[in-house]
Amino acid sequence: MKKGKLIYEGKAKKLYQTDNPGLVIQEFKDDATAFDATKRGTITDKGVCNNKISTHLFGVLETQGIPTHFVRLLNEREMLVQRLEIIPVEVTIRNVVAGGMAKSLGLQEGKELHSPILEYHYKNDALHDPLFNEYHILAMELATEEELKTIAKYSFEVNRILLEFFDQCGLKLVDFKLEFGRHKDKILLGDEISPDTCRLWDKTTNKKLDKDRFRRDLGDIEEAYQEVLKRVCERSRV
Ligand code: UDP
Repeated sequence: MKKGKLIYEGKAKKLYQTDNPGLVIQEFKDDATAFDATKRGTITDKGVCNNKISTHLFGVLETQGIPTHFVRLLNEREMLVQRLEIIPVEVTIRNVVAGGMAKSLGLQEGKELHSPILEYHYKNDALHDPLFNEYHILAMELATEEELKTIAKYSFEVNRILLEFFDQCGLKLVDFKLEFGRHKDKILLGDEISPDTCRLWDKTTNKKLDKDRFRRDLGDIEEAYQEVLKRVCERSRV
């Protein structure tokens, strides 16, 4: 697959054209940002870990009926994906109180939720990704009612599948963020699923094994990403 022109450079990834207009190369960088990119750094080999972790997780989801943009792993830092028209809505699913939710609702971080919460955030850096709901999405014509129904259904299914998968890795899936896009007439899961986009805590010690180690200066950041990769690979081999 020939790597063509750079289409887009985000905070953690780059997208390149290929000789097939329907396919793009997604390259994972080591750059890390937090708090609207006011905090910046690099996490050695984060890109390699996230590329491999996402590859495993997209594989698990595909085998359980979730359509994703993943086509195949190309090398350590790159995967081939279907080109999507990204819907500018970030879907967050929460199983345990943490991060933004603990702060905005004054709840104790670590509290198990009675049932999973689905939140939508408008994907807009300049506006700091504000929380909004399905009425905003429909009124702003960001997605149709049918698309939104599909997105919510897939998101809860992803949660069910990943809760079980990570549990078998000895990890608690606290919360995570998904992005979806249109490909022809279908909705596909896009972006990545990694410790950059999920909160993952060790099941027995509650040690944070995700980007919160970078956000909160907790140290052992590289080790946390490597640990998640190791557990995901071991589980996938079973
Ligand atoms: N998240 C993400 N990208 C964002 C915001 C959040 O991947 O731009 C992920 C984050 O890693 C966590 C989940 O979404 O797993 C929920 O994050 P929250 O809304 O609590 O954001 P915070 O305020 O903690 O950044």
